[in-house]
Amino acid sequence: MSLIGVLGRLLRPPACLACGLPGGWPCCACCLPPEPDAVGPWPLAADPEVAVWALGAYGDGLRAAVLAGKLDGQAAALAELGRRLGVALAAAGIGADLVTWVAAGRVAGLPRDHAERIAAGVAGALDLPLAGLLAPARGRDLGRARRARRRSGRPPSRPPPTARRRLAGGRVLLVDDLATTGGTLAGAAATLRLAGAHQVEAAVLAAAPAALQAGQWRAGGGGRAVPR
Ligand SMILES: [Zn+2]
Repeated sequence: MSLIGVLGRLLRPPACLACGLPGGWPCCACCLPPEPDAVGPWPLAADPEVAVWALGAYGDGLRAAVLAGKLDGQAAALAELGRRLGVALAAAGIGADLVTWVAAGRVAGLPRDHAERIAAGVAGALDLPLAGLLAPARGRDLGRARRARRRSGRPPSRPPPTARRRLAGGRVLLVDDLATTGGTLAGAAATLRLAGAHQVEAAVLAAAPAALQAGQWRAGGGGRAVPR
């Protein structure tokens, strides 16, 4: 890039990742309200024991921003969106002892650390420790899941991650970027409970209605009111 191009990029206010509005980085007020009116909790459809919190719905500008942040490797954007999620959770009075994230395996040698970036923002805003409790499923587990999928004819599902260590009870806040079916969150939550966690709640930037128990999500209003 030319010097003028570099200067132009530095001087131009960073744009909203979803709609491109100048100065809206990482997400303008239209794509992500500064103070979301309801962030949960909603029961996860795949495991109603897990309460899910989300900054917004999967279909709105937030999803575009998350995908842009992931695909462009915008670590700072993901951490900032995570911080906003953490601020909203703090306002809603969430209780947790530590924050962890859904670990993803490397793809083509590149780390996929977007969930960790978001979790770091969440943990910072909540002033909670951040701990890598989960490891991505290994090749053997992936092969087993692929064979089971072929036999059942069902759509692909990721095998659950494994626990890196045992836990002596405690409330874990599990962070991921998006919840589409909720299957990944349910698998990771089950692993954490088996490892000894007393309670697992999940927080994502954006959740699809299908990930939440039927009737719990009201599009537009966000969901049921959160006690403040
Ligand atoms: Zn926008």
